Amino acid sequence: MTDMKRRPLVLANWKMNMTPSQVLPYLDQVIPEVEKDTGADVAIAAQDLYLAQMVKATTNTRLAIAAENAHWTDEGAYTGETSPKALAEIGVSYVLIGHFERRKLFNETDGRVNLKTKAALKNGLKVIVDLDEDMSTYDTVNPNTVVLAQLRAALAGISAEELDQVAIAYEPTWAIGSGEAASATAAQKAAVLIRQSLKNLYSSGVAEKIRILYGGSVTTKNAAAFLSQNDIDGVLVGKAALDPKQFLELIDIAQATH
Ligand code: PEP
Repeated sequence: MTDMKRRPLVLANWKMNMTPSQVLPYLDQVIPEVEKDTGADVAIAAQDLYLAQMVKATTNTRLAIAAENAHWTDEGAYTGETSPKALAEIGVSYVLIGHFERRKLFNETDGRVNLKTKAALKNGLKVIVDLDEDMSTYDTVNPNTVVLAQLRAALAGISAEELDQVAIAYEPTWAIGSGEAASATAAQKAAVLIRQSLKNLYSSGVAEKIRILYGGSVTTKNAAAFLSQNDIDGVLVGKAALDPKQFLELIDIAQATH
C-alpha cells in the first residue's frame, strides 16, 4: 500500500457497441468537458472500424483513443486481424490486451497476451493489460489465483523501461457486465497483490509508478469507492460509459478522488 498519487486513468470500453451515427455526437458531447478537466487521463476503446474517425475527431484534445485488441505481428497473412503498426500509424494511443471477452470467447492465451503486449509496445502504443479474476465470492481474494500467473505471463520479457507505458486492469470475471461489482475492499486487496508481484518482478520504484485499474460493473454510484482506494488508479468501464453523461461523471469522480 502506498500514499503516492498516480494520475488516474478512466478508460471506456465500448466493446462491439455504438452505431456509426452515434460516434461523433458522443465525442462532441464529451470532448469539451474533457478539455476542461486536467486531473485524469481519459481514453475510449472502440471497435477498429471507428478508430481513424475517432482519432481525427480528437486530434489536439485530451481524449485518447484505444483499440480493443491488436495482433502480435506488424503485418502478414492474418485475415481479419489488426496490425499494431497500423494502429500506431493512424494515431491510436492505447490498446487493451487480454480482455476477459477476448480470453474467453476468442481463445486468447497468456502467451498471446504477452506477444501482443510486446508488439504493441514496440510500435509505441500504450497498453492496458487485462487480468481477469475468477473468484467465487465478492470479498475473497486468493493470492494464488490466476491473476498473478496472468500478470507474470503477460509481462515476461518486458523491461522496466517498457513498463512505463503499461497499465494493469484487474477485472473479476463475474463482475464484467453483470451489474454486480466487487467490493472496493476486495478490489484494493487484489491491487495490492498485483503491486506486490510487480515489486518482486521489477522493483519498488516500478511497482509504485504503474497504474492499476479496477473494472467490472463500475457505475457513477460505486466509482468513488474504488477510486479512493490507495492502489486503484483508474477504472475500466463498459456499460456505464456508453452513456456520455455517465462517462463524464465518472471522469469528474476520478479527479475528485485523486
Ligand atoms: C469491461 O468491459 O471490461 C467491463 C468492465 O464492462 P462493464 O463495466 O459493463 O462491467
